[in-house]
Amino acid sequence: MTRPRFNRILLKLSGEALMGPGQFGIDPATVAGMAAEIADAKQRGHELCLVVGGGNIFRGVAGAAAGFERASADYMGMLATVMNALAVQNALEKLGVETRVQSAIPMDNVCERYIRRRAVRHMEKGRIVIFAAGTGNPYFTTDTAAALRAAEMSCDALFKGTSVDGVYTADPKKVPDAKRYETLGFSRVLADDLRVMDAAAVALCRDNNIPIVVFNIRQPGNLAHVLAGEGTATIVQN
Ligand code: UDP
Repeated sequence: MTRPRFNRILLKLSGEALMGPGQFGIDPATVAGMAAEIADAKQRGHELCLVVGGGNIFRGVAGAAAGFERASADYMGMLATVMNALAVQNALEKLGVETRVQSAIPMDNVCERYIRRRAVRHMEKGRIVIFAAGTGNPYFTTDTAAALRAAEMSCDALFKGTSVDGVYTADPKKVPDAKRYETLGFSRVLADDLRVMDAAAVALCRDNNIPIVVFNIRQPGNLAHVLAGEGTATIVQN
C-alpha cells in the first residue's frame, strides 16, 4: 500500500537515534549518517524541519528518580537537546545544507531563539530549521514539542523515527506474531494507550489534523523511502 507523499514535514529525531552503537551520548558517525539522509530528503524536494530529543544525554524523569527536583531535571534535559541540535547542525552544514538552530530557551550566543515567523522564513528560503530545547517548559517532552512545532510550521505530517518499523498490536520484540498496523486512528492510539508518542503529542496532532508517520530510522536509507510513500511504516491519522 502506498502512502501519500508529504511535502513539508517535521522529523522528530530522538536522542537515542544519535547514540549509535553506544549507550550514551553522541556518536559522530551516526550523526553524519543521519545528516546525509536528511540532506538527501531535502534534495528530493521535501521541506524539512527537525525536533531533536535529548534522551541520549539526560531525561528529566530519570533525573527526578535519581533525586533531582523534577523541574530542574527537565531543564537539564532541555539543555541536552541543544547539544544534540548543534551536533546535527554541524553534520548538515558539513554537507553544504543551510540550517538554523532555534531554541525555545533563549541562548543567543549559541543559536537563535525560537521565533515562529523567523522559522517560517528560514524554511521558505530552503533552510532546515532545527528546533531545540523542546517546548521550553518542564513536564513536557520533545514529542509534544514536535507536535507543537509541526502545527506552528503548517507541516503536512510529523515523521517519528523509532527503532521499529511502525505500530504493532503488541511489542514485536516480545510477541513474535504481533501485527503491524498500516493505518491507525488517533482515537484508537489514545484509547488503547498504544504509546506511539505521548498522549499530549497525539492529541495535539489529532486536533490539528497532522498525520504521524511512525517508521524505523535506524535502517539506513529508510527515511527517503518512507518520505516517498514507500517502505514499511504506520500512519496515524483522523
Ligand atoms: N524536556 C522538557 N520539556 C520539553 C521537552 C523536553 O522538560 O518541552 C526535557 C525532559 O526532561 C525530557 C528531556 O528534556 O526527558 C529530553 O527530551 P526527551 O526525553 O523528549 O528526548 P528523546 O526521548 O526524544 O530523546
